[in-house]
Amino acid sequence: MATTTTTTTGLRDITKMERIGAHSHIHGLGLTDNLEARPSGQGMVGQAKARRAAGVILKLIEEGNYAGRAILMAGAPGSGKTAIAMGMAQSLGADVPFTMLAASEIFSLEMSKTEALTQAFRRSIGVRIKEESEIIEGEVVEIQIDRSTTGLGQKSGKLTLKTTEMETIYDLGAKMIEALNKEKVMAGDVITIDKASGRITKLGRSFTRARDYDAMGSDTKFVQCPEGELQKRKEVVHTVSLHEMDVINSRSQGFLALFSGDTGEIKSEVRDQINTKVSEWREEGKAEIVPGVLFIDEVHVLDIECFSFLNRALEDALAPVVIMASNRGITTIRGTNYKSPHGLPVDLLERLLIISTGPYSEPEIKQILGIRCDEEDVQMTEDAKDILTRIGMETSLRYAIHLITASSFVAKKRKASAIDVADIKKVYSLFLDEKRSVQMLKEYQNQYMYNEVEMADREPA
Ligand code: ATP
Repeated sequence: MATTTTTTTGLRDITKMERIGAHSHIHGLGLTDNLEARPSGQGMVGQAKARRAAGVILKLIEEGNYAGRAILMAGAPGSGKTAIAMGMAQSLGADVPFTMLAASEIFSLEMSKTEALTQAFRRSIGVRIKEESEIIEGEVVEIQIDRSTTGLGQKSGKLTLKTTEMETIYDLGAKMIEALNKEKVMAGDVITIDKASGRITKLGRSFTRARDYDAMGSDTKFVQCPEGELQKRKEVVHTVSLHEMDVINSRSQGFLALFSGDTGEIKSEVRDQINTKVSEWREEGKAEIVPGVLFIDEVHVLDIECFSFLNRALEDALAPVVIMASNRGITTIRGTNYKSPHGLPVDLLERLLIISTGPYSEPEIKQILGIRCDEEDVQMTEDAKDILTRIGMETSLRYAIHLITASSFVAKKRKASAIDVADIKKVYSLFLDEKRSVQMLKEYQNQYMYNEVEMADREPA
């Protein structure tokens, strides 16, 4: 059975953009079939426990058993939370929606926070629509037989193929059915059949359908089309997101808004209509729901209203799997005076499974930097790699990764084929990492404007 699957690309555009960016080296979670983490695989290094946990979640998502659940990836900045989420996105099937959202994007002037979150939720739910097959159950398909080649008489006649008739009045035989399948004969095709050899020649399409085949006279022959062959052969499956359906059906927006991305607020009546339609289709077996994944980065940036929305939205029958990431410790929940772990309210925290990411060892940092050098197609001497690894250990992995691009530029300027220690030293002195920047602020704070914040109160990065 050949099935054509088409997927809307909008949701994955974000992933595509990432492919040439910070996580372009990540191609999956790097797990074995038994969900064990390879020390290094598909661009992923270390973080074995977190990757294994992500692999389990991935399996549950694939089995469609995890919709409406939420995960929190918790760990220090640069510890690979987004990288692991990207690895999950790469491993999901092409028609499973994966939406990435930075929590700050919710605070837009064009729509309310809850509308923006609703849209993100509905972007993450796919509807796999099975397009009616060319031959529908019970439909009568007209096939013309040139009797001169069938040996059934000289007169040209009609043979009607009925797809559900159980009794075979005239049996074309398995060989003939096989030939119909092989030649991809569809409803409306006009063909000639050489009964002796079973050879089929397509003459074109007639588009006439015999509605009342009984009225066609005794000359008319019927044959049963074997279920699962002709019918299903032309099944076309499209996957669109609920959000895309909302936009297309929203009279004030129209489908062009999908291209501009300027979808504005969508009326709740439109969403209700879509939900009703989709549930009708599901009952008729024309569509199925594909719960996808919504990844919310920097989730602590959301406020208490958003958190209560999330709590409610996760209860919905049409909810995706929500994966959140936070690098915060115990901190204030936005919009309140309360402090809570990761800046999330306790009732939301209670719903979550938490995957934590830890610090990297020196060899792991070196390996990640090596992978990034390959990804950016730059050569680096072993000594330079060692010094960059030390910088990575003392500052951050992200800072060290950034220095690769800058030092490659410096090396090119001096027409060297590989980055050397001197190039790394140069960019290290040109660009401050976070610690040195703070140090400088401490030393020169009086020269800066609006210097009201005591360093001790400084929010972590
Ligand atoms: P933040 O809390 O600041 O958002 P994060 O935990 O999401 O940080 P990432 O953005 O995932 O960190 O990691 C920083 C960089 O290091 C990225 O380029 C990422 O692809 C890379 N990286 C992190 N962990 C790994 C890993 N285990 N294997 C390969 N690359 C990694």
